[in-house]
Amino acid sequence: ATLALDGTGLARAIRAEVAATAAELSQRGRTPKLAVVVATDDESSAWYVRSIAKTAAKANIDCEVVDLGADCSPAQVRDALDSLSADDSVHGIILQTPLPAGARFEELASAIAPDKDVDGANPVSLGLLAAGSRAFAPATAAAVLELLDHHEVPLAGRDCVVVGRSNVVGKPAAQLLLRRDATVTICHRHTADLARFTSGADVLVVAVGRPGLIGAAHVREGSVVIDVGTNPTADGGLVGDVDEPAVAGRVAGLSPVPGGVGPVTTALLLRHTAAAAARAST
Ligand code: NAD
Repeated sequence: ATLALDGTGLARAIRAEVAATAAELSQRGRTPKLAVVVATDDESSAWYVRSIAKTAAKANIDCEVVDLGADCSPAQVRDALDSLSADDSVHGIILQTPLPAGARFEELASAIAPDKDVDGANPVSLGLLAAGSRAFAPATAAAVLELLDHHEVPLAGRDCVVVGRSNVVGKPAAQLLLRRDATVTICHRHTADLARFTSGADVLVVAVGRPGLIGAAHVREGSVVIDVGTNPTADGGLVGDVDEPAVAGRVAGLSPVPGGVGPVTTALLLRHTAAAAARAST
């Protein structure tokens, strides 16, 4: 039988741990603060920002939303990131997408101070991660590892395949797996025969954004699959990239969508913010 690698219980535990750390920091006059820079009127972004703010409040973390509006210029976004980077009361900074026309994410994110880059958006953070140095990994990539560890999935010496190579998910997830001594293969849109690689994986991480991409022929019997994809359905729901009924019974574990990687991602964003505040205070 396939085990659902639930993320909601894990997220709850992480939030409780963060709330305790943040309360302690508050007592020492250093309430962790996360700044969220928004330059869009996109509704799903607004929904995500509200959910971060609500979760942060419950975890004793201040959340400041810097809403620049959809009509702002890339230079204004950069200025906002510069001043938040220089502001001692701010410990974590994230930049929401989509960005205004003409703006490049990596270029703007390079204005986020690496110490405050709690979602690993600055290319410097990804470079440090690849070099094995201390840096915040993007929360989603970190959530993949957190979920695997929580469910005690061994990684050292295992064949791990990551599908997707974005700077926010695929690439950093691959780096984190590599750090844990897995043998890592990265597949992407130009991979000629996806199933050839994925069907040999002990651990398969899928971060593409295409419902049904991974079916029975793509998975190895007894393997563990982490589904990072989030695809809205016509009826207002959410599905991942894995055809759940097709792989059920064949794989040993599969993270559900929703309720898998997603909640853990938000919890880790807050954990990173508390960690940044703790470092700043010592
Ligand atoms: P992206 O569009 O930046 O990258 C998608 C990647 O998939 C690319 O590297 C591309 O090469 C690869 N790809 C596209 N078609 C493919 C195919 N047919 N076969 C193999 N590879 C293919 O997306 P992203 O930002 O990395 O996000 C990926 C998915 O994860 C999306 O569904 C997104 O919504 C979701 N996501 C979830 C969370 C979360 O917290 N749960 C966070 C971030 C992203």
